[in-house]
Amino acid sequence: MRRKIVAGNWKMNLSWDEAKSLLLGINNFVNRHKPESKVIVCPPFPFLDRANDIFIGHASVGAQNISEFENGAYTGEISGSILNSIGVHYTIVGHSERRKYFHETNEQIGEKVAMAIKKGIKTIVCCGETGEERESGNQNNVVKEQLDVALKNISPEDMVRQIIAYEPVWAIGTGQTASPSQAQEMHAFIRNEVLEPLFGADVANEVRILYGGSVNSGNADDLFSQPDIDGGLIGGASLKLDDFTSIIHAAE
Ligand code: PEP
Repeated sequence: MRRKIVAGNWKMNLSWDEAKSLLLGINNFVNRHKPESKVIVCPPFPFLDRANDIFIGHASVGAQNISEFENGAYTGEISGSILNSIGVHYTIVGHSERRKYFHETNEQIGEKVAMAIKKGIKTIVCCGETGEERESGNQNNVVKEQLDVALKNISPEDMVRQIIAYEPVWAIGTGQTASPSQAQEMHAFIRNEVLEPLFGADVANEVRILYGGSVNSGNADDLFSQPDIDGGLIGGASLKLDDFTSIIHAAE
C-alpha cells in the first residue's frame, strides 16, 4: 500500500504574516485530524525555517528548488547542505515554471536530483507535457525523456524514497484539469513503462506518483481514487486553508 502524499507549492506568494497564519492553520488541522496521507508544504525559501518551527508532528516542510552545486560561489542559490542544516528534507525539482522561465534542462534537473539525494533531501521530481505536445500525441515520449534523463544516475535503493509529480503544463494554474482517466493513463505509463525498466517492478510499485494541475476540493476525490494516483502537488488551492484541508481529506 502506498501512503498518499498531499504537497502544497506556494510558489512566490504570501507575506510572512499571511504565511504564518496559513501554516498555523495547517498545523492545527493535521494535528487534530492526523490524516493518513503525508502532508508537505513548500513555502518560499525565507519562510522554511520558521515553517519548520511551526510544524510540530504531522506535516513536513519542503523547498521549491535546490541547487545542483554542492556549495560555494553561486550567488542566490540554495544548496542541499543548507536545507539539511535547517531540517528541511524535501524539495520540488524541475517544476515546469523552472523549466520555462529559468531554462532548466532535463540534464540539470538530473544533477539537482542527484545532489539532493547526496545531501539527504527527498525530491518531488516534476514532469509533464505542454498542450501542443499533447495535441500532437507526443505526451508519453516527452514525459519518458524527462524522467529517463532526470533519474538516470539514481540507484533503485534511493529511488524508492523519491516522489514523481506528473503535472501537464496545460493544466497548471489554468483551471483545466486532466480528467481522472487521462491522468491515470499517464501515471500507469510512468510506473510501468518508465520506472519499471529503470528500477525494476518492486521499486516502480513503491514510488509515489502525484498528480498536479488545477487540483481543487471539487476534483481531488475523483483524481485520488485512481489506482496509480498517489496524491497531489497543489498550487493555487494550497494557498487557502479550507481548500487545502479539503484536498487532504480527499486523500483519505
Ligand atoms: C503547480 O504549480 O505545481 C500546480 C499544480 O499549480 P495549480 O494547482 O495552481 O495548477
